Amino acid sequence: MTSLERVVASLAKLPGLGRKSASRVAYHLLRADPAFVRTLAADIVAVREKMRPCRQCGMYAETDTCGICADPSRDPSVVCVVEQSWDVETIEATREFRGRYHVLMGVLSPIDGIGPNDIRLGSLLERVRADGIKEVILATNPTVEGEATAALISAQVRELGVTATQLAHGLPMGSDLEYSDRLTVSRALRARVRLN
Ligand SMILES: [Zn+2]
Repeated sequence: MTSLERVVASLAKLPGLGRKSASRVAYHLLRADPAFVRTLAADIVAVREKMRPCRQCGMYAETDTCGICADPSRDPSVVCVVEQSWDVETIEATREFRGRYHVLMGVLSPIDGIGPNDIRLGSLLERVRADGIKEVILATNPTVEGEATAALISAQVRELGVTATQLAHGLPMGSDLEYSDRLTVSRALRARVRLN
C-alpha cells in the first residue's frame, strides 16, 4: 500500500466520510502547503493525547479542570446536562447560558447495553448533593434514549430536592408546520407560551 492508499483507507473509517470523500481529502493533502499538513498531523495526534474529560463536568479539555468550570463568573448553581462534549459548544454558541455543564458522555440505551452506570450519572448526582446546585437543566437529545435519560435524571434529582427542567421542544425556525413530524408538533403544542 502506498502512503496515499493508507491515508484514504484511514480517512474512510471516519464518521461522515465515505470512500469518495476520503479520496478527495487525501488528494487535497497531496498538494496542500507542507506546513499546513504537518500542523494538521501534529494536531490530530495532540487531540488524542492531550484532551481529556474535565474532572468536574466531563467536557474535553487540555487541563484537569475545563475553562468553564474554572471560570468564577459562571453560576455554579445551575447545571446544564448534555449527552456529549460537542453539545456544550452548541449551547455556548447561543451566549444565553451562564451556568455550568455536566457531560454524560452517552445516553441510556438498553438495546446497546448502556445503563445508568455506563454514563456519567453518578458524578452528576454527587455534584448535586455536594455543590449547592439549585437547578438541573436537561438538554439531552429529543430521541427515545435522550428522553428516557432525562426522565431518569429528573426523578433522581427530584429525590435530592433539586429542580429539574428540560429544554422546550418546538418547531424548527424557518420551516413550515406541514413538514414537521407529529411528535414535534405535539411537543410544541404542549410547550406553547402565552403571548399577551
Ligand atoms: Zn468542566
